[in-house]
Amino acid sequence: MQISQRMAAARPLATTAMHGRVEALQAAGEAVIDFSIAISHFDAPEAVRRSVADAALHTRLAYTSVSGAAALRQQLAAKVRHDNAIDAQPHEIIVTNGAKQALYEALSVLTDPGDTVIVLCPYWPAYLATAQLLGLKVILVDLPDRLDAAFLAALPLAHVFILNNPHNPSGKVFSADELGLLAAWLGEHDCAAIVDESYEKLIFEGRHLSLASLADWRALCIVTLFSASQSYAMMGWRAGFAVAPGAVVQAMENLQGPITAAPSALTQVALGAAFASAESAALVADYRIRRDLVLQQLAPAAWIKMHCPDSGPYLWGDVRALGCNTVAFADQLLAQYKVALMPGDALGRPGWIRIGYIGDDLATLQRGVAAVLAFGNALHAGAATLALPA
Ligand code: PMP
Repeated sequence: MQISQRMAAARPLATTAMHGRVEALQAAGEAVIDFSIAISHFDAPEAVRRSVADAALHTRLAYTSVSGAAALRQQLAAKVRHDNAIDAQPHEIIVTNGAKQALYEALSVLTDPGDTVIVLCPYWPAYLATAQLLGLKVILVDLPDRLDAAFLAALPLAHVFILNNPHNPSGKVFSADELGLLAAWLGEHDCAAIVDESYEKLIFEGRHLSLASLADWRALCIVTLFSASQSYAMMGWRAGFAVAPGAVVQAMENLQGPITAAPSALTQVALGAAFASAESAALVADYRIRRDLVLQQLAPAAWIKMHCPDSGPYLWGDVRALGCNTVAFADQLLAQYKVALMPGDALGRPGWIRIGYIGDDLATLQRGVAAVLAFGNALHAGAATLALPA
């Protein structure tokens, strides 16, 4: 048996691989607390579950067009016009099995093998994995505290700029000034953009703005990705969509057709019901309490620096003061304390850790964070050591 050269080099996403390790331990009867990815303790909105049950019981669920049912695309075009100030029409929308499928399709359509893509570091691992599958050259650029003229002046030329706004893992929400400067740079350098706005609803401070609302997105070739996974606690429903110039949507549809055709008709019902509901506000209020609790619990530790994120379900901590290998840190934490988190290495930043804090009841969350604290304190005091050097 021969695996193609292209696929032989591919590896599972680090984030899903860590979650897989947790599931295997849980299946073996271990009680593991999982901070490695952000799976919400919320159920999908009730309106979503009711609509899907109703559709399953009372409709035929026939094939829809590959880019999604016409009525749904109409609804989503209205959503992005209203919520995001992107003046899209239904033929500029494609419904996908989550943002990941939209990302793969958009990047496939905008590039050829060997083309260059700018990714800000730290990054969501799927950006790198997708670019690698497509044979692209990734240019990693450090995420700036502030995206300004000096930052842009130092950027290399590229075919596509991938922006994650709000940003995983830092929680940064890009301002109108920053986005305006970026839009101008894209235009001047003939660089397309994929903007992943999957966390658009999880905002604690500031206001989320879509890059596509600040520029002629069709002329600049800006593709904007949306997902119900985080905004509506619907990770397993695999429901997302993209807004792109009509020709890009058409090409994405040509790729999607032979693979999945349209997403399942039930997923489409779920997506429509999710974006018609207002339930993200409850998530944000709940996540804010958790975010603050964890920050408070970790505040006494001298070995971890964490700023308070403006958005998202993660805390992103600088643990370089421990002087340790963060993959080994995560491995030993899991082995000894049965707590999983993501080492920053998986997101391009060794020496950092990411804690997804939205998954458990509060008591479990606090127990897991207490274990991280105890382990870090022991390493910092020299009372514990790691198998791997820094
Ligand atoms: N984009 C980013 C940056 C994410 O972190 C996530 C959730 N992990 C998603 C998108 C959601 O992807 P999907 O819609 O495929 O679940």
